[in-house]
Amino acid sequence: MRDRVEQIYDDVVGRNPAQPEFHQAVREVLDSLTVVLDRHPEYTARKTVERICEPERQLIFRVPWQDDRGEVHINRGFRVEFSSALGPYKGGLRFHPSVNLGVVKFLGFEQIFKNALTGMPIGGGKGGADFDPKGRSDAEVMRFCQSFMTELYRHLGEHTDVPAGDVGVGGREIGFLFGQYKRITNRFEAGVLTGKGLSYGGAQVRTEATGYGAAYFAAEMLRARGSSLDGRTVSVSGSGNVAVYAVEKVQQLGGRVLTVSDSGGYVVDERGIDLEVLKQVKEVERARISEYAERVPSARYVAGGCVWDVPCEVAIPSASQNELPEEAATTLVRNGCRVVVEGANMPTTPGALRVLREAGVGFGPGKAANAGGVATSALEMQQNASRDRWTFEHTEARVEEIMRAIHERCQATSEEYGRPGDLVLGANVAGFLRVAEAVHAHGLV
Ligand code: GLU
Repeated sequence: MRDRVEQIYDDVVGRNPAQPEFHQAVREVLDSLTVVLDRHPEYTARKTVERICEPERQLIFRVPWQDDRGEVHINRGFRVEFSSALGPYKGGLRFHPSVNLGVVKFLGFEQIFKNALTGMPIGGGKGGADFDPKGRSDAEVMRFCQSFMTELYRHLGEHTDVPAGDVGVGGREIGFLFGQYKRITNRFEAGVLTGKGLSYGGAQVRTEATGYGAAYFAAEMLRARGSSLDGRTVSVSGSGNVAVYAVEKVQQLGGRVLTVSDSGGYVVDERGIDLEVLKQVKEVERARISEYAERVPSARYVAGGCVWDVPCEVAIPSASQNELPEEAATTLVRNGCRVVVEGANMPTTPGALRVLREAGVGFGPGKAANAGGVATSALEMQQNASRDRWTFEHTEARVEEIMRAIHERCQATSEEYGRPGDLVLGANVAGFLRVAEAVHAHGLV
């Protein structure tokens, strides 16, 4: 089956030129699927893998907007509706200058399997724009969001495609996007977007969910090794939504978080990150992470350095794709790191993953470990559909239960397919099997 998989990969590369992130994401999944194709010849006969690798629909559109000085800007918007096998397309919107079709496709592809792993009825998609919200006023961000939605609304719907946030898209942006959707369609269709504010149909724990979920996943991995987060030193990269709430939950579970970072550098705080200061700097003031070190005497700011130089037992990369390269993995191993859990999407490069594997470091892939966010989005959709509201405690208990089930499913699948503890294989295979079964049930569509 190896040859067959190579052929599928070559075809994907051939028909999607110059999309390295997408190729990387496909390669990683295909590497896990050889064992599945050996066992299930029907997937080869029906070209199931090939069908899943081709998005159902790819949208690219112009987003014109005016800044506060009246200058006109043109950005490019994307929505890749990858798979509706399990439910409406579901996945976030990313606003960042690095966004292009290949990046959106890599994220959308990962999202299919991630969403399948949650066990919730959601398909896979992703979108965004090459817009940089950094330094923009609220009014500028609002005008951008309104222009973006003026095109995208026609493709959305609670039964069709349900975006949420991602990098650069948080509660403020979702509010502006929802307001414009409501105005254009004249419908209060709460289930069309998730990550909404609590005042208009949002779910408790949605803000915290991705970071909390990554911490729960780390705890499960340590538990499987007869250990726990209690007393462990933990390095977190990033200082966005995922990182902040990974820090919060790791601390609640007894871990000591030493680091956070942004694109300018990182801070080390041997006494453990002060969550209150972190939230004030990042959430209230939207300032740079260097500001944290200005305010906390025990902290040190390292401009432009690599956060993985700091010795830790558990690493939770929560910034962006390919932020943990091979050299960083070597350093982590040398410094005694035991577990790496991906809070971001695909932060670990293939070379780094090889190093971690060879050293026997436990590895929790993003499509399993950061599924808490989208799982809570599905819980938000559930509440919107039933016009219900759950408490924080009830919602959090559901998220924890879902994260445990994902770990359990990945672990069990890795055992069933002969590679016990290989959660990359477990996640890819378990996610794929669930999607493939639905794809077959629907016939050739
Ligand atoms: N952007 C998040 C992710 O990567 C959440 C997506 C969602 O809630 O739809 O999974």
